[in-house]
Amino acid sequence: MPFLPCLLCGAKLEKRMDKNHKPYFVCNPCGIQLFIRREHGIGLLDKLLRNAEKNEIPFKQRAEEVYQIQALLTEINGVKQQIERLQSQITFLFRDEDKVRACNLLKTKLANLFKELEQLAK
Ligand SMILES: [Zn+2]
Repeated sequence: MPFLPCLLCGAKLEKRMDKNHKPYFVCNPCGIQLFIRREHGIGLLDKLLRNAEKNEIPFKQRAEEVYQIQALLTEINGVKQQIERLQSQITFLFRDEDKVRACNLLKTKLANLFKELEQLAK
């Protein structure tokens, strides 16, 4: 469906046709009406809408990858902090085996997160 974003609120405005078969757009919440009356503008609009349709899907996919990478980086940071906290609590004099085990598990998790990140970065 061809659309333009509303220049005030960003809502998707569907292309409509008036009784003279000229394209126009309406944003009801904003009360904006955008009419394209001349051939020059109609030609530019068609070109823009064709490109927008072609570009929209790759853009969405890329945006999703960026979100995934950001989420992974946040998780990696969190796991690193947990490991550091545990390591600071483990001393040679008072060695808590549960904390050592938890620390090792977290290191495995960290390695897996990096593997996941590597896959995404490819
Ligand atoms: Zn609007």
